[in-house]
Amino acid sequence: MTARIIDGNALSAKLRGELAAKAAELTAQGTQPCLAVILVGGDPASAVYVRNKVAGCEKAGIKSLKFEYPQDAAPADVLGKISELNADPSVHGILVQLPLPKQFDEKAILEAISVEKDVDGFHAENVGRLSQGQEAFVPCTPNGVMEMLKSIDMPLRGAEAVVIGRSNIVGKPMAMLLTAAGATVTVCHSGTRDLNFHTRRADILVAAIGKPKFVTGDMVKPGAVVIDVGINRLPDGKLCGDVDFESAKDVAGAITPVPGGVGPMTITMLLANTVESATRAARKA
Ligand code: NAD
Repeated sequence: MTARIIDGNALSAKLRGELAAKAAELTAQGTQPCLAVILVGGDPASAVYVRNKVAGCEKAGIKSLKFEYPQDAAPADVLGKISELNADPSVHGILVQLPLPKQFDEKAILEAISVEKDVDGFHAENVGRLSQGQEAFVPCTPNGVMEMLKSIDMPLRGAEAVVIGRSNIVGKPMAMLLTAAGATVTVCHSGTRDLNFHTRRADILVAAIGKPKFVTGDMVKPGAVVIDVGINRLPDGKLCGDVDFESAKDVAGAITPVPGGVGPMTITMLLANTVESATRAARKA
């Protein structure tokens, strides 16, 4: 059996087309959605992520503002910019690209962003709202995974879902979203005793570990949906996921590739959150 490929590029293109139409409608009504991105330091991967986010905005008719700071930037300068952007009614989303240099208190920076403009969904209040099922900005990567599951009509109520990884940006919100959708969720992590026992029971297996090709075909339940969040660079420069695609695809019922899977969906959901924020602002005005 060879798994169905869940094509993140194709799904993104469809969703981005819909978002561009919404953005054009809002712009015509006098509210062009606008995302402000703050990049601190010279991390090459971060620079690529920011470039892709800005390009995604431009293509969808979303205005983007980019603010760059050197590696030794003073946290007070970045906090000052955040409060300026918080107060600017023409800005609907604010994103600070992580990781930040060591002189920064990441938590303090994320909490400085206004909850209404926190399109990454990392602010503690948005996390709390999400956990209580209240309206919130949902972190982009797990939100993108939910869209992928929806696109294949995966029934979630009663499904056994196993998430490997418990980070604040992927694993934890992923578990919250799957729980809210009615799945029975197990979160595995570096302290899990018998990982294979859990993964082999999963109807939906989400890998967010950060270790190349960690999940192999023998860890997958036949017919399962395998979602690979990992982005790892191999010594030859190629990208690969946390799942060993070659062995897993022969066991799984559906699988996401890397590249071209969850990656493009993350940026799509960032655009969606920005358009949603602009819609809320227009409604208020
Ligand atoms: P992280 O390092 O914060 O968390 C990794 C998690 O994996 C931890 O909770 C840890 O407990 C768990 N883990 C590590 N070793 C394990 C083991 N042997 N067995 C079980 N669990 C283990 O990473 P993160 O920020 O959640 O990112 C995970 C991966 O997803 C990375 O490859 C990252 O690049 C990628 N990522 C991709 C996107 C995207 O847009 N596709 C977005 C964010 C992160």
